[in-house]
Amino acid sequence: MGDITTNTAQARSIASGPRLSLDNPLTALPGVAEKRAEQLRALGLITVRDLLQHFPRTYQDRRVLTRIADVREGDTITVEAEVVKSRAIRLRRRLAMADLTLRDESGEIRAIWFGQDYLVRVLKPGSRGFFTGAAGAWKGLALRNPDYELHSGDEEDRLNSGRIVPVYRLTEGVSQRMLRRLVRTALDLVEPPEDPLPRALREAHAFPAAPDALRHAHFPDEIESGQLAKSRFAYEELLGIQLGVLTARAKRHLEHKRHRHVVDGPHLQALRAALPFTLTQGQRSAVADILGDMASHRPMVRLLQGDVGCGKTLVALHAIAAACDGGYQSALMAPTEILAEQHGIHLREHLEPLGLNVAVLTGSTGNAKAVRARIASGATSVIVGTHALLQESTAFHNLGLVIIDEQHRFGVVQRGALHAKGLDPELLHMTATPIPRTLAITVYGGMDLSIIEELPPGRAPVKTRRITPAKVPELYAYLRRQAAAGYQTYYVCPLVEESAAKQLTAVTTHFEELSAGPLSGLRTAMIHGRLPSSEKDEAMHRFKRGEIDVLFSTTVIEVGIDCPNATTMVIEDAAQFGLTQLHQLRGRVGRGPTQSYCFLLGKPATADGKRRLEILCESSSGFDIAEADLEMRGPGEFQGLRQAGLSDLRVADLVRDVRLLDAARRDAQRILEADPSLARPEHTLLSEAARRYEAINT
Ligand code: ADP
Ligand code: MG
Repeated sequence: MGDITTNTAQARSIASGPRLSLDNPLTALPGVAEKRAEQLRALGLITVRDLLQHFPRTYQDRRVLTRIADVREGDTITVEAEVVKSRAIRLRRRLAMADLTLRDESGEIRAIWFGQDYLVRVLKPGSRGFFTGAAGAWKGLALRNPDYELHSGDEEDRLNSGRIVPVYRLTEGVSQRMLRRLVRTALDLVEPPEDPLPRALREAHAFPAAPDALRHAHFPDEIESGQLAKSRFAYEELLGIQLGVLTARAKRHLEHKRHRHVVDGPHLQALRAALPFTLTQGQRSAVADILGDMASHRPMVRLLQGDVGCGKTLVALHAIAAACDGGYQSALMAPTEILAEQHGIHLREHLEPLGLNVAVLTGSTGNAKAVRARIASGATSVIVGTHALLQESTAFHNLGLVIIDEQHRFGVVQRGALHAKGLDPELLHMTATPIPRTLAITVYGGMDLSIIEELPPGRAPVKTRRITPAKVPELYAYLRRQAAAGYQTYYVCPLVEESAAKQLTAVTTHFEELSAGPLSGLRTAMIHGRLPSSEKDEAMHRFKRGEIDVLFSTTVIEVGIDCPNATTMVIEDAAQFGLTQLHQLRGRVGRGPTQSYCFLLGKPATADGKRRLEILCESSSGFDIAEADLEMRGPGEFQGLRQAGLSDLRVADLVRDVRLLDAARRDAQRILEADPSLARPEHTLLSEAARRYEAINT
């Protein structure tokens, strides 16, 4: 400790001038040279602000150290002790453990770590430190998998003991003790930050002011005050995001578009009259939302979210018909040719009887020039395509509606480029990626949201089963019976080719072996990412036409592929895949009236893998699965977050902080009602935060 006091005192005495600023690089801190700054950079820490926002992952209460002699089974305690014995023990073929004996002046106790036998190289006899954990029985009393922290020298200091200590996320070369010391120094030297939260808001939530909160978050007097301080910063972060996305939305709602759409015109009426089935409740309210937007004075920016197969295309058709009634063109952009063509078929089927012209424009459209000419002249009113729509040579006559299918597959720039080809066009995004509500109001907080929760009637949920190795022959027999009955199967493998590094099924070898063996005589085909797209498309088309019984593939089969005749999905090494991905794969079947099945093969290597398969067998709701996925993986990993620029949430955790997120959302709404442009002096800092997030989802 001595060195810190001196450093700080020195710094203070020298610092008659300005103190440290939050924006200073970490090298401005005493004791941080280039090398250390480099190590800290691996944690994303570059400025003093970054360091102070590197909040503890948890805290340990070291106010009370327990004497080893007083440890009782079931207690969670911290002892300060010396390692006296240390050995690795092999329990089973795959499982080893570290078995240590710890000693203090009162006695000895064992400490064990299952599966971490390498610890014997770290915790050698003679080393001293803190050991925190639960005492249980293992051939006598033992601390099981305790957290440990070794003393660096023989001296102890008051940052690391006798108090509640912060426990940080670390990286190579950076220890808890080092971070504690740096944070302490920074807290002592830094200019106290201004508080972005207006006093009234702070008081309403009983949050401490920023300077106090910063100290409490790192070195609290009580664990609760540390947690409250951390919540304060999480809330602040979430409030900034909500203010940003809501401001963007409010600005849009104030805009006046040049025209409003007619929403009860002849095309729409004719479409409704001709529909072969009734809309589901979710489809009906999505259509109502969309037509409401189109009839209003403000431009529509809406996200239509719904599980695969819920019938989003049909909802889009209503919007297209309404646009046509006003004399406007519509464009629907899909991420791949095969999806664009599939949409083309559906749109033609429903729209041509109404006298509307539908064109498909993709990279392989033969007479693209003529097609483009008709689009430019306005002779074609509905255009479906891929990225080809974005090309400069594609010009529209009067594009009034833009629909983006599988919107997460396009970047902000691409989506914007299509929008820019129109006259204030209405914008409808569609996605089958179910996003938990907590994420949706963050990532898509600036859009209006319509959600379809149910599937069309008559669709039984896909039944999902795990298949043990012994049952695989039965599975093959089942596939043969399905083929004989005229039904088709998707057969998904994780790898393209066999690899020495991964003991996983490769589609190339599996395709050959099964086609020649257990599935011989069936019409099989294979697609994977290394084939040219023309070959992939060709196989997909043949599958859609019913010319293939079993399609072997990697995960390249499209999310939106609609093949009602495919009723079986087989997934090899299923535990390899993420939960959301498994759910989306499964969504390729169950699109017709026949009961569909999804079979999961392979033995999960981890407990998490096993849990994923269990969840999938139990649940068929994309939203529930997305929640579970988010919980298991954490939001950082979650698809969509990174794209939205939100993977760098510093403090907030979208799983843990749902309640804070709701509060932030409500508060943001209230603040903007009172001060729509955040012009009041007490909102200056909030307005800066909001501006950073305004652009994330247009
Ligand atoms: P997705 O939301 O995945 O894009 P699609 O629009 O491809 O779903 O629709 C899936 C299938 O369901 C299509 O064959 C479509 O014709 C059918 N469908 C859509 N809505 C209904 C409904 N209300 N009743 C019956 N079938 C429907
Ligand atoms: Mg679709």
